[in-house]
Amino acid sequence: MSDGKFTVCISCPHHCRLAEGKTGLCRARMARDGKIVCANYGKVTSLALDPIEKKPLAFFHPGTRILSIGSFGCNLRCPFCQNDSISQRGESAVPFDTANPAQLADIALRLKTEHNNIGIAYTYNEPLVGWEFVRDCAREVHARGMLNVIVSNGCTEAAVIDEIAPLIDAANIDLKGASQEYYDWVGGDFAAVCRTIETLYRRGCHVELTTLIVPGHNDREADITEIAKFIASVSPDIPLHVTRFFPRHLMSNAAPTPVTSVHSLADIARRWLKRVVVGNC
Ligand code: SF4
Repeated sequence: MSDGKFTVCISCPHHCRLAEGKTGLCRARMARDGKIVCANYGKVTSLALDPIEKKPLAFFHPGTRILSIGSFGCNLRCPFCQNDSISQRGESAVPFDTANPAQLADIALRLKTEHNNIGIAYTYNEPLVGWEFVRDCAREVHARGMLNVIVSNGCTEAAVIDEIAPLIDAANIDLKGASQEYYDWVGGDFAAVCRTIETLYRRGCHVELTTLIVPGHNDREADITEIAKFIASVSPDIPLHVTRFFPRHLMSNAAPTPVTSVHSLADIARRWLKRVVVGNC
C-alpha cells in the first residue's frame, strides 16, 4: 500500500510505514519504487547440513538431515536472541553469499543420497520477513521431490501463511510466552503467533512448537499452564519443546535456566499435551 510518499508493509503486524528507500524494523524489507520488496532475497548468511532434530523437530523424519539456510533480519527484538549476529543485523553488517532458489534446491538434491538430506529448512534468522524467497525456494524443492521446513517466530500476517502453507511440510514455531504482555517485551504480536500455529496445523503442516524458558519472565507454573492449554485447544498431539535459556545478546549477564526448572515445567505441560520434549539440558 502506498500513498505516494510512504509505503506500508503488510507482511507482519508491525505494518511499517516506509519512505522511499527506507528499510523496515526487520531490516529485511524495504520500500522501492512505491512497493515493498524483500531486500534479503537470495542473500544467504548461513548454510549447513543439520540433523532434523536440531531444528528442533523430534517427530518429523527422525534420523535424517536437512540443508538449513538463513539470511539476515527479524521482526522481533528478543533480548535473549540466540542468533543475534544475523537476525538483529541488516545487509551492511553481515557477510553473505548470493544464491537463487534453483541453485539451493540443486544443492539439497545433491545431498540427498549420500548425506540423507530430506530438503531445505528456512531458519537461523526469521525466514518469513523474506517469505518470497522461502516461497520460491520451496517450489523448487518440491519440484525435486523433497521437503520444506520453516523455523519461525510465527509473527506474520495471515496472507503470508496462506501463500506459503501449501509449500511447507513441517514447521517449528516459537511460542515464546502466553500473553500479549510477554510479546510486548519481545516486540511481537501474540494473537498473530497463535493464528499462525492454528492455520498451519489445520492445513496439514506437521507443527512442533518451542518455548524457551527465560528465568523471571516465563518460568512460572501459570505461564507454562497457559501455553500448554492453548496448544491443547488446537491439538494435544502437537509436540512442545521446552528449552533451556543460555545467556546471550542483551541478556548475556543473566543466569541460565536451572535444569530442574525446565524439567518440572515440562512435567506440568504434560498434563495437557501428549508429547513434550526437553531441550538444551
Ligand atoms: S515484515 Fe519487516 S518491514 Fe514488513 S511490517 Fe514487518 S517488520 Fe516492518
